[in-house]
Amino acid sequence: VIDPYLSRTSSSAALFDIACEHIPGGVNSTARATWSGWSPHPLFVEQGRGSRLTDVDGNTYIDYLLGLGPMILGHRPPAVTRAVVDFIERRGTVFALPTADEAVLAAKIVAAVPSVEQVRLANTGTEAVLYATRLARAFTGRSKIIRFEGMYHGFSDGMYWSKHPSIATAGPDARPVPVPQGPGLPSGVERNLIILPWNDADILADVLAREGDDIAAIITEPVMCNTGCILPQPGYLEAMRALTEKHGVLLIFDEVITGFRLGLGGAQARFGIRPDLSVFAKGLGGGFPVAAVGGRRAVMDLVARGKVSMAGTYTANGIAVAAANAALDELARPGTYERLEAVSTCLRDGLSAIFAKAAIPAYVEGIGALLQVWFSDTPIRNYRDAERHADQDIFRRWWEGMLARGVLFHPGAYENLFISTAHSFEDVEATLAAANDVVSRLA
Ligand code: PMP
Repeated sequence: VIDPYLSRTSSSAALFDIACEHIPGGVNSTARATWSGWSPHPLFVEQGRGSRLTDVDGNTYIDYLLGLGPMILGHRPPAVTRAVVDFIERRGTVFALPTADEAVLAAKIVAAVPSVEQVRLANTGTEAVLYATRLARAFTGRSKIIRFEGMYHGFSDGMYWSKHPSIATAGPDARPVPVPQGPGLPSGVERNLIILPWNDADILADVLAREGDDIAAIITEPVMCNTGCILPQPGYLEAMRALTEKHGVLLIFDEVITGFRLGLGGAQARFGIRPDLSVFAKGLGGGFPVAAVGGRRAVMDLVARGKVSMAGTYTANGIAVAAANAALDELARPGTYERLEAVSTCLRDGLSAIFAKAAIPAYVEGIGALLQVWFSDTPIRNYRDAERHADQDIFRRWWEGMLARGVLFHPGAYENLFISTAHSFEDVEATLAAANDVVSRLA
C-alpha cells in the first residue's frame, strides 16, 4: 500500500532530509517536530495567502493551522504587510529609543482589553509570561505560583512543567506533583510551583485556604487551549477571581491564544472577568513577533518606578509595533468579529452535526475562532480526563483523512483548529464536505 501522505509530499521529504543535516530534528520549534505528530516529516511551506497554504509539492490546503494562532487575519494580510514594509523602508527597525507609534499601540490595547490599564511590549509569549510572574512576585512579596496541568505558558525554567505529564507518575488527581516537560531544568524551581487540575473550584479554594499566604499568583489560560480546547465550567473563572481577591493572590490570564481571537477584548471580555495581569502574543501582531503584558496600574507601576526591569534589545521594534498597530486597526473594523464568529460558528455547528450522527463517540468543543474535536464518550474537563478518555489513534486518522482532502490543521489532538477573518463560508462548506467523507470512514 502506498502511503498517500508520502506520495503527495516527496519534496517535503527531501527537504526534511537536508534540514536534518544541520538543524536538530530538522525544524526550529517542537510543535513542528516528528514527535509532535508531523511524521515521518512535516510539510515544507511554499507560501500562504488568506485562508490557503501551499506546500513545496504544490498541494494547497484550507489552513486551520494558521501558524498556531497568529494569522488571525489570514496569511499576508495586505494592511499589515503594507504597514511593515512602509515602516522599514521609510523609518528603520531598531533604535533603542522610543517611537510615537508605541504609545499609539498601547492606547489601542488599553482601549480593547477592559482590565489592562497599562501595558509593556515583549517579543514572545514565553517572555511576556516571565514578566507577568515576576511582576506578581514583586508585587505580593510571595514566591509560589499556581498553574494547571495541561496548560502551556512558554518554555522558561519556571513554567516548563506539567504540560502533558504521564499521569502514572504525576501524583494524585487533586494535587499533582510538578513534572518537568523535559531535562535541563535546574532542580528546585518546582518548589515555587503548585500544580492543580483545571476546572475544579473546590480544590482551588482548599489550596488557597491552606497556602494562600505563600502564593503570588494563579496563572491560567481562560480557555484551555493547550490540551485541545476545553471551556471553563460555568462559574469556575468567577470563583477563581473571587478566591484570588480574598487571598491577595494576583490572577494572571495567559491570553496568548485567546487574546484578540475570542474578541478584541479577549476571553476576559467575553466571560466578564477582570484579571490583575494579562499576557498577549499571537493574535496581537498579525503574524509578526510581538507580545504584551498588561494589567492594573498599581502592579504595572513597579515597572514605571524601575523596581521591576523589563528590557529587551528588540522589544517594541519598528516591525512589531507597525504590525500590531495595523493588525489591531484591521480587527477593530466594524463587523470583523461578527463575521469571524459567524464563519467559526458555521464550522463548529457543521462539524458538531457530523459528529453527532457519527458511529464513533466524538464532540466538538470551541469558542470564537477556535475549536477542537474530542474523540471521547465522556466530556473532557481537564488534562487527566483527556488522557483517560480521548482516543488519540482515531484523531490521527481524522487528521490524515482531512489532510488528504486538502484541509490542514495540527496533527496533535491537544492542539486546536484556528479560523481567520480570511476564511469564507465556502471554505467552511468545503471543510464540512471533507469531514463528512472522513467521518463516515472512521468507525
Ligand atoms: N502561553 C500560551 C497559552 C501559549 O499557547 C503559548 C504558545 N503556544 C505561549 C504562552 C508561549 O508563546 P510563545 O510561543 O510566543 O513563546
